[in-house]
Amino acid sequence: MMDLQLLPKKLLLKGGTIYDPLKDTMEKKDLLIVNGKIASMKKGENYDDAKTIDCAGKIITHGFCDLHVHFREPGREDKETLATGSLAALAGGFTRVCVMPNTNPPLDTPESIRFILEKAKDVPVHIHPIGAITRQQGGTDITEMGLMRDEGAVAFSDDGLPVQDGSVMRRALEYGSMFDLPIINHAEDICIREDGVMNEGFMSTKLGLSGNPNLAESSMVYRDLALGEMTGGRLHVPHVSTTESAEHIKEMKKTNKKVTAEVAPHHLYFNDEVIASFNTNLKVAPPIRSEEDRTALVQAVIEGVFDCIATDHAPHTIEEKEASFDLASFGMIGLESCFGVVNKVLVHQNKLPLSRLIQMLTVNPRRIMGFKFDLFQEGVSAELTVIDPKSEWVFSKNDIYSRSKNSPYLEEKLQGRPVLTIAKNKIAFIV
Ligand SMILES: [Zn+2]
Repeated sequence: MMDLQLLPKKLLLKGGTIYDPLKDTMEKKDLLIVNGKIASMKKGENYDDAKTIDCAGKIITHGFCDLHVHFREPGREDKETLATGSLAALAGGFTRVCVMPNTNPPLDTPESIRFILEKAKDVPVHIHPIGAITRQQGGTDITEMGLMRDEGAVAFSDDGLPVQDGSVMRRALEYGSMFDLPIINHAEDICIREDGVMNEGFMSTKLGLSGNPNLAESSMVYRDLALGEMTGGRLHVPHVSTTESAEHIKEMKKTNKKVTAEVAPHHLYFNDEVIASFNTNLKVAPPIRSEEDRTALVQAVIEGVFDCIATDHAPHTIEEKEASFDLASFGMIGLESCFGVVNKVLVHQNKLPLSRLIQMLTVNPRRIMGFKFDLFQEGVSAELTVIDPKSEWVFSKNDIYSRSKNSPYLEEKLQGRPVLTIAKNKIAFIV
């Protein structure tokens, strides 16, 4: 069970390896935290009056940052709240998350942004609201982005739903560029997707489920990239699932340095053959694709096409997931399992340097959102994660702190896990 405590006045993390993802340095040093702030990093430190934690064999790094989570508050507190979502984040090594606005009501006004930030004050991770692009996420009328930005919105998205109308997307990028905030579009052309519930291909035919073709995503990603270029806006492409989308992003990045993109752990880990189990926790939008797409996404990570990993943590109740595959809700939780999954598939199976993976979870997402990213500076509030990179573990219900349990990783063998997370003057002992 995770144990969440107030940070001691003086805390020494001793004998570990400190990986600074900003400077890309890996050094055996001790880290002293005094009154919640980074005090010093030296070798062989001892302080009689400090609580000391042995970090031998562990890596101490920046707290992870997730640009894409659904904490369901307000409106669906039976699935998740800012408080329960924060515990899931801590268990996954995350100290900072951005919550998507597809709540009930959606976060589409300055007041709703203020509501989230008020509520987020008391929870143990840093939470930033993303404002809706359109009122009620209706896809037509642009929200008061400037006022929402003034209240603390860090980006805009209608996530869960695509901005289907190209002219609305164009205007969103134009407005967004006035505030230099990212526009994040859930790219799935609903006209091409139709009623697809899984990837369109051999498996959908075999299983008799309606298919969602790669083109539903990649055509809209292509449109958004072109609109980003036309408007000079900042486009961030979320949860890329197809070979073609990755290729379009790679191509556009050669000339447009403003484009950023994320990939989700499940699109790197699974291929659509797993849908044969009819496990509804594998039903997600965009869908888990073919093995060809999965390996193309892994290759794209290695080539640096994606800036960051984002979980798209999407909690649902048992009732919504116990339906047949056609009818079940889209989405899976992902915070607690994230590191064990991406470390296994990227570092262990595909030889991505661990340092690059950590950058994709720390400094890169913070840069995209304009958050402070020099976290090992003296005097900075401690926001860090201690990882056991060698741990082999089987993901179980006991590892889930989300209010919902819709994880497809149950009983999966994962590699590496966060063991300690520090944020907001609290320390979470995860195992
Ligand atoms: Zn989405």
